[in-house]
Amino acid sequence: MNNSRKGYDKPTLKLSVVLPVFNEEDNITELHNEIAAVLDTIEGQSEVIYVDDGSSDSTLEKLRDLHRIYTRVVVVEFRRNFGQTAAMAAGFEFARGQVVVAMDADRQNDPADIPKLLDKIEEGYDLVSGWRHDRKDGYLLRLLPSRIANKLISWATDVKLHDYGCSLKAFRHDVVKQISLYGEMHRFIPALASAVGVSIAEVKVNHRPRVAGESKYGISRTFRVVLDLITVKFLLRYSSKPLQFFGSFGLISGFIGFLICLYLTIEKLFYQVPMSDRPLLLLGILLLFIGLQFITVGLLAELMTRTYHEAQDKPIYTIRKLLRKD
Ligand code: UDP
Ligand code: MG
Repeated sequence: MNNSRKGYDKPTLKLSVVLPVFNEEDNITELHNEIAAVLDTIEGQSEVIYVDDGSSDSTLEKLRDLHRIYTRVVVVEFRRNFGQTAAMAAGFEFARGQVVVAMDADRQNDPADIPKLLDKIEEGYDLVSGWRHDRKDGYLLRLLPSRIANKLISWATDVKLHDYGCSLKAFRHDVVKQISLYGEMHRFIPALASAVGVSIAEVKVNHRPRVAGESKYGISRTFRVVLDLITVKFLLRYSSKPLQFFGSFGLISGFIGFLICLYLTIEKLFYQVPMSDRPLLLLGILLLFIGLQFITVGLLAELMTRTYHEAQDKPIYTIRKLLRKD
């Protein structure tokens, strides 16, 4: 979460639509027509930001053409493929709309849902997440893993949604400016955002089968999502107090180790039971050292947390608004 630098630029447009695009040459033109048709029905100025994530087909030429023809088309060209999360982050960085809508560029999300999301934002929510209640993807490789991942994420984070993987989301301007994305964290935006204190709603959205181009992900994504989940969980709960996390393991382990060693020592001193041929001794020493290690790691992490916050001027709080008469 980043509260500094870019957080408070004033939005100059009504709406920004952000789309990460990677090798979608057969989708772009049709998709843009659909988006344009929807934007024409929405009051106020809008922009469509296509972030070309190092496409190797003719996607980029098509995007440049769109930019030549339409004033509201913004194209960000990456030098190489940095991934969907990075592309979203770049789109967020350049977005000038009061509301920012993110969606996929493969025509699986339906632009016709955009007004629905905007209505929810109007109702006062800071973040509205799409729920592909009737998802059009293969069962074994996509739906099943995603169902498990959804359960896991919902169990591990405080935000209860049905569908974390849906890219179609709407954000208030200051929300996208306050979140920093890393790795493949875009599906955890609601969880990260809720830590900042934003209000979140979910609306059912249309989902369509992919008709052109290929999905960029396989089953391995599920494992990466689980690893990311551990990071997110740690960041949300303990990033400003890591010693409490590591230290509690350390204390428990160290304490048990201490008790074992104490017991062995008493037996040796008072009952003359030899210590050296007892496996328990190894366990006691091991636990003591593990405890020490955990506490040391926790202390180092405390130091790093301070460096992290202070070096980047990152506050440990986030502000919605400042009311001051001057
Ligand atoms: N995408 C991207 N960079 C990548 C992979 C994907 O910008 O490295 C884009 C892709 O063009 C699409 C969106 O991210 O607009 C979602 O990708 P995809 O449809 O392959 O994912 P799925 O819907 O299968 O989860
Ligand atoms: Mg897709």
